[in-house]
Amino acid sequence: MGFIKAPATKEMLFEAVRDRLGPEALELVERAYKISDDAHQGQFRLSGEPYVVHPLQVGYILYELGLDEKVISAGLLHDVIEDTVYSRSDMVRDFGTEITQLVEGVTKISEIKSQSRETEAAENIRKIIIATIQDIRVILIKLADKTHNMRTLSFQPPEKQRRIANETLSLYAPIAGRLGIYKVKSELEDLAFQVIYPEEYQDIKKRINVKKSEREEYIDKLQLILKQRLAEININAQVEGRAKHFFSIYRKMKTKEKTFDEIFDLRAIRIITDEIKDCYGVLGIVHTLWTPVPGRFKDYIATPKTNMYQSLHTTVIGPDGKPLEVQIRTTEMNAIAEFGIAAHWVYKEGKAHANERHLTVKWLEVLQSWQDSALDPKEFLEELKYDLHEDEVFVFTPKGEIIQLPKGATVLDFAFRIHTDVGLHCKGAKINSRMIPLRTELRSGDQVEVVVDKRSKPSPIWLRIVRTTSARQKLRAYFRKLREETRKDLEQGAESAAELTLNADVLEELKRKPSHDKSQKQGQAVQGRVLVAGLRDIPVRLSGCCSPLPGDQIIGFVTRGRGVSVHKKNCSVAMKQREEEQLRMISVDWDYGQTEPVPVRVEVKARDRQGIYLEMVKSISGTQTNILEAGASTVQKDTLMARFMIEVEHLDQLKEILGNLKRIPDVVFAHRVK
Ligand code: MN
Repeated sequence: MGFIKAPATKEMLFEAVRDRLGPEALELVERAYKISDDAHQGQFRLSGEPYVVHPLQVGYILYELGLDEKVISAGLLHDVIEDTVYSRSDMVRDFGTEITQLVEGVTKISEIKSQSRETEAAENIRKIIIATIQDIRVILIKLADKTHNMRTLSFQPPEKQRRIANETLSLYAPIAGRLGIYKVKSELEDLAFQVIYPEEYQDIKKRINVKKSEREEYIDKLQLILKQRLAEININAQVEGRAKHFFSIYRKMKTKEKTFDEIFDLRAIRIITDEIKDCYGVLGIVHTLWTPVPGRFKDYIATPKTNMYQSLHTTVIGPDGKPLEVQIRTTEMNAIAEFGIAAHWVYKEGKAHANERHLTVKWLEVLQSWQDSALDPKEFLEELKYDLHEDEVFVFTPKGEIIQLPKGATVLDFAFRIHTDVGLHCKGAKINSRMIPLRTELRSGDQVEVVVDKRSKPSPIWLRIVRTTSARQKLRAYFRKLREETRKDLEQGAESAAELTLNADVLEELKRKPSHDKSQKQGQAVQGRVLVAGLRDIPVRLSGCCSPLPGDQIIGFVTRGRGVSVHKKNCSVAMKQREEEQLRMISVDWDYGQTEPVPVRVEVKARDRQGIYLEMVKSISGTQTNILEAGASTVQKDTLMARFMIEVEHLDQLKEILGNLKRIPDVVFAHRVK
């Protein structure tokens, strides 16, 4: 089952349907075509062709996906109710409720208005999901519709081309992937890729052509060797070269930071057998011919992937001494690998496969799990959105523009992606109109709105919140600038310059000092957390008397024999010690971005009631803070005193934690313990 890209004629479709599905099926398909042709009379595509050409191609793609006459007919009729005078009741009368419901399902999935007005992206995804749950065939028709529209995208104005291509890449291609229909997924991706990144597309295309003959020669050679050996043990198998599609090459180059050659030179073949046992026979041959690379064998036949994918995977050192990836599977497994959920409806030509029942049951299980989760549509949507893309998320601005970010990116990354100033002055954010913390990870389909306040400034913990390199760089640049300014201010306002900077000899001596000191009571020895006179590699000690935390204003002294001691700016112990021992002051500053978490003790007093302790724990861990120690005791009747040792990276984080704790009903106080 290959895909033809050239438009199919109605004769081609009729012949194909008669051959595979029989005369009764042909009767239905012919009737559907006639109605569609009549209804669309006088309508034209942007290409100038009669409109019916579009539903005809959709019907043909559905045929190619292996679907039956009902789905093909629904494909032929998919635009009729929406765009012509032919009504729903006409269709029920002529074709019955099943086909009508399929067509209605497709009609309900409206196009995403991703730029024109406030987007309802999540809503659109939801519509697709619901249509899919009601009848999975609806989404197959929608995907066929999308495929033909993408093939003829060049007739649209450039701006619209880009919008549609983006939507295809962000929504329809991932859905095709989720359903295991890789044939459709890769075509949609390549068609969208061509529009969104025309230069990169042409570049990869050119390079593939250059390598084409070399690659074909190599595959020919392998085929020869394998065919011969397999014939010896009576195994009938097909050996194919595996062409990666353009967009997957591009994506790999981007995400794995590899060159075209590194990706393309990965030799890969696929061996297709008639029966399962032959798969293992072929594997044996492959492993005797060439040396297997340890740890690369995977048996997805014994343990299929959740989307039903089955295959054996192995990597060997091929005849040219380079790694060769080999996939071994049966014809049926191959159909599932390419057509995924659609393969469920593939006409079996009366041939009963041994595992057909098993497969059907498995498919139904997959569908069933969707049905079950559909009981809570919100949860189901969450799950699907999460699964949609493996490495990236697609979210929407309030204006409906699609923003693509790596998986794990937070709201803050989004803000920086919009504009550096939006990131730097980001005060808060909303996802789908609800206020959320900045560290919230984005999920595909989220609509994100950043609340900007010119007076608001970045907090150093942001460096731990952002996940993208570009946002981190922007923050680093900001803090670097801030540090330089602070230092200048300090130098200008200093009592004497000598107090802030030391001569090279003293700094060298400080560096040599061991960072670990036996006398733990003197405070915590750290390195790389605090900059001393702007230098990173000088051991310092966070003094035990005031336990400064990143974010606190700090001062530093050169102590006698104990390196640089760091105190909070207002620490009275430090002031006294400085006077008594006549210590020299030195400029210190937190080295944001390098800071490791500091253990902090927190005490919470509350009216004792059922579950309150657990709420405290949840409230703390909800901020992604490590709890090192936790305990609680009842001090008086009805009063609970809970103590936590937590790891805090920054004062702002501690403030947030204490604030959250105080908001728990019945909490009397929450504070840091010295
Ligand atoms: Mn259409």
